[in-house]
Amino acid sequence: AVEMKDISKSYDKQKSVIDQISLSIEEGEFFVLVGPSGSGKSTLLRMIAGLEEISGGVLKMNNQVVNHLPPKDRNLSMVFQNYALYPHLTVEQNILFGLRAKKVDKKEQQRRLQETAEMMGLTELLKRKPKELSGGQRQRVALARSVVSEAPICLMDEPLSNLDAKLRAHMRIEIRRLQKKLGLTMIYVTHDQVEAMTMGDRIMVLNDGKIQQVGEPITLYNQPANLFVASFIGSPK
Ligand code: ATP
Ligand code: MG
Repeated sequence: AVEMKDISKSYDKQKSVIDQISLSIEEGEFFVLVGPSGSGKSTLLRMIAGLEEISGGVLKMNNQVVNHLPPKDRNLSMVFQNYALYPHLTVEQNILFGLRAKKVDKKEQQRRLQETAEMMGLTELLKRKPKELSGGQRQRVALARSVVSEAPICLMDEPLSNLDAKLRAHMRIEIRRLQKKLGLTMIYVTHDQVEAMTMGDRIMVLNDGKIQQVGEPITLYNQPANLFVASFIGSPK
């Protein structure tokens, strides 16, 4: 589980962009973080990843305090908004980059590569460079690179934001299926209500660094805690 107790963040002594967030995310849960631009979603995700220093509070993973643990020791993978593939490397090299850095055994690398490529429908594309791929194919490479690490916790920051509506719908299903199959604990950032409502086991609505409500999609829809949640989720209240 990922547990946060009074997690806060302020840059250079300015006002908090994340304000005392307390939250527990269960193992195998698909947890969605939504909120308007600037509400602090990426900041929170980056703190969980270890890419951003935590200003206050305690972050635990599997009952261990990880506040000062470097990203590589947190046993998680992350997919960024812009995919950030290496343009000069092939699909295969992009997918295996992290495993090579970690000096994972060659045979093991190949086993994971084949399995992941199969799962993501990338088997035919392994020798290509990113510029020879469509947006959706690139997206799948970024997802494959994350999945191949076999990390139990997966963080995704608006991973579908650059795709067209049809591909988004398709990828929503693929990501969800993958998460279930691998039993991943997923923390998924989006500002798309449909994505949140259809993918999340639970949703957290964030505004101005503060939790507005945490709950199952149906609860947020039927019993929004306040007007902000109601208008954000699009419920009738
Ligand atoms: P978006 O949906 O646009 O990606 P977000 O919810 O991910 O927004 P964050 O990127 O977490 O928002 O930013 C939260 C707040 O923190 C914003 O007001 C932003 O300007 C501020 N912020 C982010 N990074 C820094 C930084 N390095 N220094 C100072 N302020 C920052
Ligand atoms: Mg962001």
